[in-house]
Amino acid sequence: MPQFVDHSPPGECVFCRIARGELPAALVHQDELTLAFMDIGQVNPGHVLVATRRHAANLFELAPEEGAAVMHTAQRIAQAIAHTFHPPGLTLLQANGKEGDQTVFHFHLHLLPRHANDGVGLLWPRKEPGMPTLLGYAQQLSAQLASGQGAPT
Ligand SMILES: [Zn+2]
Repeated sequence: MPQFVDHSPPGECVFCRIARGELPAALVHQDELTLAFMDIGQVNPGHVLVATRRHAANLFELAPEEGAAVMHTAQRIAQAIAHTFHPPGLTLLQANGKEGDQTVFHFHLHLLPRHANDGVGLLWPRKEPGMPTLLGYAQQLSAQLASGQGAPT
């Protein structure tokens, strides 16, 4: 399992403190497994974070039911964003690890309303290594899944 560094003790990070009501946040929704609140740094109006209620540093620490709950909440919030702010586009972004551009080490998913020429960019340096290489990658991942190590921990 990949090792990522969580810079706060579990239960003491900023999102855990929001979940306990110890820090102010503009809450949109909360339920048993998730909470949704406005990102303090609004890239566009209606920019929401969906976080797990329990401290999980990243995707690798999510329980399967938490992953499902996050996506369930995200879809509901996305519908609300669409009806309220009418963005022509919406981007989901979820980062894991410092090298993956994660900055708060408590699992969260960005729901980012998008507009034409809104200044948001994604560097996406595509490479096309060819089918033999792709088949090799796929075989490695399939073997990993078959070994049982692709199962949630
Ligand atoms: Zn936390």
